[in-house]
Amino acid sequence: MPKFRQRWTEPLARTPYPNATTTLPCQACGGSSLESFYELNDVPAHSCLLLPTRAAALAFPRGDIELVFCHDCGFIGNARFDIGLNQYSAAYEETQAFSPRFLQFLDEICRDQIRKFGLGPGLTALEIGCGKGEFLTKLCELSGCNGIGIDPGYHPERNQSSAADRMNFIRDLYGPRYSHLQAEYVSCRHTLEHIAPVQEFMRLVRETIGNRHQVNVFFELPDMERVLETGVFWDVYYEHCTYFTRGSLARLFRAEGFDVNGLYKAYDDQYLMVEAKPVAGPTIATLPQEDDLASTAALVKKFTKEVDNRLQELSEAAHRWRRSGQKVAIWGSGSKCVSLMSSMELGDTLQAIVDINPHKHGKFLAGSGWEIEGPDALTALRPDAVIIMNSIYTEEIRHELATRDLRPELLPL
Ligand SMILES: [Zn+2]
Repeated sequence: MPKFRQRWTEPLARTPYPNATTTLPCQACGGSSLESFYELNDVPAHSCLLLPTRAAALAFPRGDIELVFCHDCGFIGNARFDIGLNQYSAAYEETQAFSPRFLQFLDEICRDQIRKFGLGPGLTALEIGCGKGEFLTKLCELSGCNGIGIDPGYHPERNQSSAADRMNFIRDLYGPRYSHLQAEYVSCRHTLEHIAPVQEFMRLVRETIGNRHQVNVFFELPDMERVLETGVFWDVYYEHCTYFTRGSLARLFRAEGFDVNGLYKAYDDQYLMVEAKPVAGPTIATLPQEDDLASTAALVKKFTKEVDNRLQELSEAAHRWRRSGQKVAIWGSGSKCVSLMSSMELGDTLQAIVDINPHKHGKFLAGSGWEIEGPDALTALRPDAVIIMNSIYTEEIRHELATRDLRPELLPL
């Protein structure tokens, strides 16, 4: 749900193989103590852009991933990220809002934010990288506040909200030209991980708030601690050029003039949430969960081994399916799926990739060129096994399959 482009900065790396351990400064703290620990070459540069034809999907630009860990602040970034490959536009289809489980989560966080920060009529909420506007719209509907959303991927025709007259959507990338937009509440969800120069970005956000110290700031993004711990390599992909744990995120916020009041995980610990207030200068760590630099460094050391374990498990499953001539489908065509397809060969056991988002049906996956179908395609196919790209949707998908009289083996990732 991103959409912010760092037009006023140089890209982190345009040279194909920079010596990341010695030459690049950390994008979060400027430090030079970077350790390279994971590489993946030639992966699709986007995973949520929908391609109209198989040929366009197969020919989609590719880039390399080299994750580097900063020993000074714990930040993790892709040292080979090339902003020139970014193509955020209205063809970007990231929404999860067709899932009941996701809508319930959205409702919960909106109510929680409204309660915590007293959002109501007369106040304005700004969302940087608002995607299709689901969060901002719900926030405005539930609280009565006004909303400003910025995102090139926004589709006005899809928003039929009763709060539409209180909301203003700008179909553009966020940047300094929007620093005049002021609000009592600033949110930024699933956007920071798409931004390479994160220090500059946080500086911009902080500068635009100025001395209005009563403003509340809320960021939500994927949590990297879980990814490192479990080796779920499908959560590492080109679109995500930056990765944070609770500690590294808090350190960035504190260094750039915020006090961190809330720092927690949500959505089965997949997401990282930070609640902060602007202050006059840097602040010092006060929360116990910020103290994770040593533990993150230890996780970084064993990440590739964990990835190998996951790959081994998946290839054993694929081998078993192939041996017994079973038909396999993947449920969920988002970034995790594109990433999995880049790392793993399922061969002709794979028969379909389905998604509940109807806007994706008949479109093609970048890289592999697979066509995305609706779940009804499975009725005729009758798969023996279904790989579920996000385990949080397992029960929802089990139910969807059962309504089609399907009870395949489920492999939730
Ligand atoms: Zn750093």
